[in-house]
Formats: sequence, C-alpha cells, structure tokens
Amino acid sequence: MNRLFIIVPCFNEEEVLPLTVSKLTEALKSLISKGKISRDSGIMLVNDGSRDKTWEIIEEEYNKNEYVCGLNLSSNVGHQNALIAGLETAKDMCDMSVTIDADLQDDVFVIEEMIDKYISGADIVFGVRSGRKSDSFFKRATAHEFYKFMSRLGVKTVYNHADYRLLSKRAMEAVLEYKERNIFLRGIVSDIGFKTDTVYYERGKRAAGKSKYPFRKMAAFALDGITSFSIKPINMIAILGAVIILFSMAALIYALCSYIFGKTSPGWTSLIISIWFLGGVQLFALGIVGQYIGKAYMESKQRPRYHIEKILSRKNEDK
Ligand code: UDP
Ligand code: MG
Repeated sequence: MNRLFIIVPCFNEEEVLPLTVSKLTEALKSLISKGKISRDSGIMLVNDGSRDKTWEIIEEEYNKNEYVCGLNLSSNVGHQNALIAGLETAKDMCDMSVTIDADLQDDVFVIEEMIDKYISGADIVFGVRSGRKSDSFFKRATAHEFYKFMSRLGVKTVYNHADYRLLSKRAMEAVLEYKERNIFLRGIVSDIGFKTDTVYYERGKRAAGKSKYPFRKMAAFALDGITSFSIKPINMIAILGAVIILFSMAALIYALCSYIFGKTSPGWTSLIISIWFLGGVQLFALGIVGQYIGKAYMESKQRPRYHIEKILSRKNEDK
C-alpha cells in the first residue's frame, strides 16, 4: 500500500504550526480521497527542543486530528538531526515520506506530483525551487555562490533543492545508514543513488514567525556541508603551501644575488610583511585542517544524534 508520512521539523514554530497542520491535513485528505495514498497515512510533527509552546500545540493537534503524530526530542539537535529522528521513527510505519519545513514556504500541493512520480517508480523526488523571488537579495546571492562552490569542490547536490523531498522506504533506509553526526542530508540523498525525479515549485515567504536560520547558523551549515563531503580544501592547502615554497625560493635567489652584488638594504619592510603574511597563511591552513580533525574527533565518539522524550503515534496504530 501507499502509506505516506509527512515529516515536519519544528523549532519554536508556535505562530505558524496550527496553520501548517490544517494545510497539510487538507493536502493529505485530498490525496486519500483520490486514492493515491492509504487512509492510515499521517503527519509527523517533530519538536526539536522548542522553547515556546510548540509541543503543547502538537499535543493539542494530536488530540483533535486523527492524522497527526508527534515526536518530542529532549533538546534542540538542529534541523538535520530532527529530520533524521522523524525518518527513523516513521520508516517502519510508512512506505514513503515527504519532509517539509514547518513554515509553509514550500508549496504543499506539489506533494501530489511527488506521489505520482513515486508511483511511476522514483525512489527520491526532489522539490526544486523554480526561482528565488521570495528571498532577500543577500540570501539569493549567497545561496547561488554556495551551490556553485559546492559543485566545484566535488560535492553533489541538486541546485535549488532544500529539504523538501519524497523518499521511498528503501531510500529512507539508505539515508539512515549514514551514521555521521554532522549530517548534511542534501549531500547524502544525492549520494545514495536509486531512481530520482524532480518537481518544481515556487517558494513563498514564511507564513508566520521568524527564520530559525540566522546568518551564523547558515554559515555553519554551509561549512558543514563542504567539510562533510569534500577533502578538497586540504588539497588546496597543500597546493598553496607548494606555491609559497616556490615563491620563497625565488625570493631567496633574489636576496642572495642582492647580497653578492652588495645591494642589501635594511629589509625591515619585506621581513615584517612576510612574517605577517606567512603567519596568516599558516593560521588559515591550520584552521581548515582543524575542521577535519575536530570532525573526526566528534564522529569517533559515535554519540547518539538525538533522544526521544515522547512519541504520540496514530491512535489506530497497531503497537
Ligand atoms: N528547524 C529545526 N531545528 C532548528 C532550526 C530549524 O527543526 O534548530 C526547523 C524549522 O522549524 C523549520 C525548518 O527547520 O521547519 C527550516 O527552518 P527555517 O524555515 O527557519 O529556515 P529558512 O527557511 O529561513 O532557511
Ligand atoms: Mg523557512
């Protein structure tokens, strides 16, 4: 059967959540009435350690809406790990999942198209934004550069695709086999293979509330994406080092010649510049290498990625 779970990560989303649930329920009911998904499909709201009333709202929705399930994580583990928690919990209860943000920026009505593509054999269906009109100039420009830079570094991602996607059961299982803590789902889903397809949609503005991705988090996310999937930055450091060595050899020859021909000057300026320059280069290189060492350290601990405080499963669920 085609049992669908829509997985929604929620972090401090009290303002938008009731509206989101009603829109998703509407979409789900319409899919059920068209016979595209089974009646026991549902919506899984994952509370990612919110500090506002998000969990209370999830409980309320659970009590009045038969399609709603809730998953309460014990602390804030971030968008990606909240999605993993949702996928891991839902995977045994459904044949396919759609992950979507809580803020209704993604058009819920393309879920139907995603299901059609699943029915015709796709294991992964990417929701891709047809444009970025609703974004600020800054976000648009940085996102574009980010995708370009990622592909230059050899990280496979789907251009303008965020975390709005359908995964079949086996695609979910494959994603869950990636055990890293610094998880970058966009890279992983492009890495697992299987038959993929794409649906296009116009991304709107957040229906209510503020973005949970301020610049600081966005930059950390981008850095994580790169360092989780590519070791090219390390190679670039090595190349930079080699170039500097060549460069300093030329400088050495020049200095020796100057010395032999008696044209030496006090040389303070060049000395101080090179000390600063090389110090900077070394620190920069060390910083990047440190990123990887830090990551290896974190991964070596194999710590759990989240803890579940409570699960509200569908009332008719066989336990
Ligand atoms: N989110 C989360 N944990 C976090 C940060 C965000 O679960 O630590 C969720 C958030 O509730 C939303 C989604 O991730 O459903 C995307 O966040 P947001 O819409 O704020 O990001 P933006 O669209 O501004 O990039
Ligand atoms: Mg958003």
